[in-house]
Amino acid sequence: MCKCLKEIEEKVKNELPINNSEYKGLEIKRAYFTGKYLDCETSKNGLGIPLKIEWDVIHKSGKEVCKKKEIDMIAKYCPFCGVKYE
Ligand SMILES: [Zn+2]
Repeated sequence: MCKCLKEIEEKVKNELPINNSEYKGLEIKRAYFTGKYLDCETSKNGLGIPLKIEWDVIHKSGKEVCKKKEIDMIAKYCPFCGVKYE
């Protein structure tokens, strides 16, 4: 298991205020991937990539309503170094 997610979060938190004028001087409290998850059985991190899905539902009144939901697609490989998540 690679350490890319943790390393990138730390790097962004520590280096963004130094290297990017838009964030100059800010003290970033946290930087984290919103799709990161922890596998309870293996205690290893992985990454879920959000995917929005939409579908139509016809109510009893006959009116069509668009429903939306966001689901996570679990990455099998690290998007940064290519190592397979176990
Ligand atoms: Zn990686």
